[in-house]
Amino acid sequence: MVSRLRWVVCILVSVSLVIVMSIPTQAKQKEEVKALLEQKLEEKEAIIWYLGHSGWAIKTKNHLLIFDYVETETKPAEPSLATGNINPSELKDQQVFVFVSHSDGDHYSEDISAWEKSITNIRYIFGWQAGEKPNYVCMEARQSRKIDDMEILTISSTDAGVGFLMKVDGLVIFHAGDHAHWGGAMDPFAKEIDYFAQSEQEFDIVFLAVAARRDQRWESITQGVFYTLKKLLPKVMFPMHAGGKEHIFKEFAQEAEMKKFTTNVHYAENKGDRFFYQNGKIQ
Ligand SMILES: [Zn+2]
Repeated sequence: MVSRLRWVVCILVSVSLVIVMSIPTQAKQKEEVKALLEQKLEEKEAIIWYLGHSGWAIKTKNHLLIFDYVETETKPAEPSLATGNINPSELKDQQVFVFVSHSDGDHYSEDISAWEKSITNIRYIFGWQAGEKPNYVCMEARQSRKIDDMEILTISSTDAGVGFLMKVDGLVIFHAGDHAHWGGAMDPFAKEIDYFAQSEQEFDIVFLAVAARRDQRWESITQGVFYTLKKLLPKVMFPMHAGGKEHIFKEFAQEAEMKKFTTNVHYAENKGDRFFYQNGKIQ
C-alpha cells in the first residue's frame, strides 16, 4: 500500500513538473504568434500554420484565412496557432475569413460559429447551404464571388461540397477540401482541375488530400494529385487529409520528389508547424 502511494506521489510530482516547465515555453510560443500576427506582410507573402488533418491558417497582407478547422484532440490549456489550435482571442484583431469546404465531421465543427463572439471582423464561407446570417456566404460549385478585395471561385468536389480557389493579397491559393481522385474514372476529378487551369494562370499555394480519411494512401489519390501538379503547376504544395498520421505527408513528398515536378512539396510534421511563403518559395 505504502509503495503504491509512493508511486502515485511520484507520478503526480512528475506530471506537475512537466506542466510547470511547459508554461514558460507556451508563453514564449504565444508571444511569437502575437508578433507574427502583427508582422507586416507584402503582397504575395504568407505565413502558413498547419492545424491538423485538412486545417490550415494563412496570414496574408490584409487577412487571416482559416480552412477546414476541427478540434481533433483535447485542446491544450493555452490553445494557440503555435499548437495548431484556433484561439479566437488570439485572432480578435485580424480580418478573418473562415472557409469550410463541406460539412463532414473531419472538416467542419459547429463550434466555429462561436468565434464571432471574440472576433469582430469575421466572415464564413461555406461550400453548402449552411444557413442565413449576415456574415455567412454559402457557395455552390463553379460559382465566383468577390468579397472586399478577395475573389473566390469554387469547383465541385468528388466527395461533398466544394474546393476553393481564392485570389487575395497578390496570392492564388487552392484548398481542395475533399476533391480527390478517390477511384473509378479519372474524369470527374480531372475536369474540375481543368476548369481551374483554364481560369487561372499562376497558382502559388495548393493544399491537396493525399490519403483517405482513415489515413490510407490509394494509388488513385496519388495519381490525382500528380495530375493536379502537372496541370496547375503551383509553386508550392502541401499534402493534407491524413487523419493525424503526418508521416504520410513526408512519404508523399518523397514520392513526388522523384517525379521532378516544378512544384516544391512541403510537409507538416506536427500541428502548429509554420511556413513562410515569399518570392514563390517557402523560405
Ligand atoms: Zn475528409
